[in-house]
Amino acid sequence: MIVNKNASLKKLNTFNVDASCDVLVESSNTNDLLEVLKNKELNNKLFILGGGSNILFTKHYEGTIINLKEESIKILDEGPVKVQVEVSAGMNWHRFVEWAVDKDFGGIENLSLIPGNVGASPIQNIGAYGVELEDVFDSCSGIMIDSLDKVNLSKSDCEFSYRSSIFKKKLKNKFIITSVRFNLTKSNHLYNIDYPDLSNLSESGLDLKKISNEVIKIRNSKLPDPKQYGNCGSFFKNPIIGYSKFQKLKEKFTEIPFFKTDSNYFKVPAAWLIDKCGFKKINDENVGVYKNQPLVIINLGNASGNEIINFAKRIKDSVFNEFDIELEEEVIVM
Ligand SMILES: Cc1cc2nc3c(=O)[nH]c(=O)nc-3n(C[C@H](O)[C@H](O)[C@H](O)COP(=O)(O)OP(=O)(O)OC[C@H]3O[C@@H](n4cnc5c(N)ncnc54)[C@H](O)[C@@H]3O)c2cc1C
Repeated sequence: MIVNKNASLKKLNTFNVDASCDVLVESSNTNDLLEVLKNKELNNKLFILGGGSNILFTKHYEGTIINLKEESIKILDEGPVKVQVEVSAGMNWHRFVEWAVDKDFGGIENLSLIPGNVGASPIQNIGAYGVELEDVFDSCSGIMIDSLDKVNLSKSDCEFSYRSSIFKKKLKNKFIITSVRFNLTKSNHLYNIDYPDLSNLSESGLDLKKISNEVIKIRNSKLPDPKQYGNCGSFFKNPIIGYSKFQKLKEKFTEIPFFKTDSNYFKVPAAWLIDKCGFKKINDENVGVYKNQPLVIINLGNASGNEIINFAKRIKDSVFNEFDIELEEEVIVM
């Protein structure tokens, strides 16, 4: 376990903003973690940090930040058709996907190249190209910060929904996920290539590697590399609006793209709304949106967290004034 006081977080967040915290603990196993939780000096306003790819720091964090480092994968149960694996929270998500694809274990290939760690994947029920974490999630283990109780949570306990879960609501900052169990397929894979971007793939001769490679290719062409431009992927969620509001918008903007979530609700791409407000051509000195994907706010140089949040507010205000739609942040603002 490594403990640093007044530590910099600049290298620990993909927005690359300069921020710091009172104490930073790098913990490599659950025993370390329990030691921190039992230590009254360290267990002060705890926050768990994974890969920092969904967080915008806007100020110094007055408290302790724990960065989980343990990377392990265990096969718990293996049959002819299915396999159950347990992965530690500190495992890099894409390394886990690569491991599964190499072993020909199916279910997460569409989630290739999502930054961050396995421990954070249930927090916002990560999703991409027609697949969400909840499709393969079995259960997770973790520790309640207040009582130090070790708890297992099933899929229904986690209350997954679009980019959300119990960990963003009732259990927000109260529960530390230490490992996640996944149900993957070992044969009879259910390839999911319905997403329009994957239309280059054909059913014949398809395998997990081909899907993963295609997803990686598309992501590399559409999303900025945080090493070049600091970012956290989509800054806002795609708004889901009711029937009557959608009808009004459709009358005014006949070309509005949408996805029907059920008979009364419609999901509208936030990227389209932002683009329509002209943000591909608008930027502040240090902040803008990515040219190939306006839903991604990028750090053009040395932006502070506050500059980024102010720019995000400009986008929110414009979208609200133009479409009467309130965008909701996907990124966690600290
Ligand atoms: C270029 C780019 C592309 C992206 N594309 C996608 C995408 O396609 N789909 C998608 O869903 N997301 C995407 N994201 C967002 C991000 O990668 C995911 O949300 C990811 O799961 C965040 O993981 P992390 O480890 O970086 O979490 P962090 O940013 O470190 O933390 C996020 C939240 O999880 C909590 N947390 C982290 N670990 C734990 C733990 N062990 N126990 C309890 N709480 C924990 C933190 O406290 C925080 O509230 C993208 C980001 C980038 C930069």
